[in-house]
Amino acid sequence: MRCHPRLPLVVLTTLALLLIRLSVSASAQDNVVYVVLDGFRWQEVFTGAEERFITPDTGVKNVNGIRERFWRDTPEARRETLMPFLWQTIVKNGQIFGDPTCGAAARLTNSFKFSYPGYNEMFVGFADEQIDSNNKFNNPNINVLEFLNTRDRFKGRVAALATWDVFPFILNQERSGIFVHAGTGPIVDEPLNERQMLLNHAINNALVLWEGNQIDVFTVELTRDYILKHKPKALFLGLGETDEWGHGRRYDLYLHAANKADRQIQELWELLQSMPEYKDNTSLIISTDHGRGENLSDWTSHGKEIVGAEFVWMAVMGPKTPALGIRENVEVTQSQIAATIAQLVGEDFRAAVPQAAEPLPGVWGE
Ligand SMILES: [Zn+2]
Repeated sequence: MRCHPRLPLVVLTTLALLLIRLSVSASAQDNVVYVVLDGFRWQEVFTGAEERFITPDTGVKNVNGIRERFWRDTPEARRETLMPFLWQTIVKNGQIFGDPTCGAAARLTNSFKFSYPGYNEMFVGFADEQIDSNNKFNNPNINVLEFLNTRDRFKGRVAALATWDVFPFILNQERSGIFVHAGTGPIVDEPLNERQMLLNHAINNALVLWEGNQIDVFTVELTRDYILKHKPKALFLGLGETDEWGHGRRYDLYLHAANKADRQIQELWELLQSMPEYKDNTSLIISTDHGRGENLSDWTSHGKEIVGAEFVWMAVMGPKTPALGIRENVEVTQSQIAATIAQLVGEDFRAAVPQAAEPLPGVWGE
């Protein structure tokens, strides 16, 4: 029964909330970290590896090896095997939305079901039908990171590091003035420290697997250094391998990419919790920009015509977020992420952008 994880905790949490509500207020110390796994399906998030996809037809090179690594008898065991940090830490201490079988579908409101329209929706709080391609054009809409950068306590402390080289345009770096590192090139962050120099050297000498998209580990390691060096208060990390291996019809590497991302997020979280600037006052959000097809023939793909690619998911954990676990009977949309990011650090994005959807229900002590 995936949808009924722990009722007693909900009761306890409700009591705890009554107390929290009285004391919740925006502290000058609050930080938010947002991570996206591009094109990673809710099906794997909630039920782990799909058995019918573990076949040579989906590009799995070593069927027995992948079964041994990721197949378990129950969906609960499978998802924890695939994403242990998400399930054992984030969902246990926070919340996850997006399981349609629990009456909790999370949907895109844009009709395109591909990346730029999705990132626009999550960062600006509404779907914009003018954003209809992945081309490199500056986004006319104000995004939530840009909004935070206008607040005194966030000014110059907002950063985005992403594997995909369209992010400087999605976040309109030119206008927003936030730090953006994106794509397959080295980081520009002079004066570079020793680890940054080493990473840039490795980046320059590494094989580029996809035009315009870095492999995740480089961007993650650059993010680690960026945190240590600049201590951003609002940080976005955009990972891309899940989408790339999906398009490449490599279900084995798609699973491995998600599993590595889960570990990378765990390591970043542990780093944050080891730093006084972040310990116990940082919220973490994880989501995806779009789903993918549901069948053997179309799971590799997404877009307007792909049935099911409009379903996404999002998980939240942090000092202000009640531990409600798997959310049930509450439908949400991707457009709610922008206002949620602001809310978690005590800011009201909708005061600046009234068109933006309201924050996800119940992630801020209600
Ligand atoms: Zn894609």
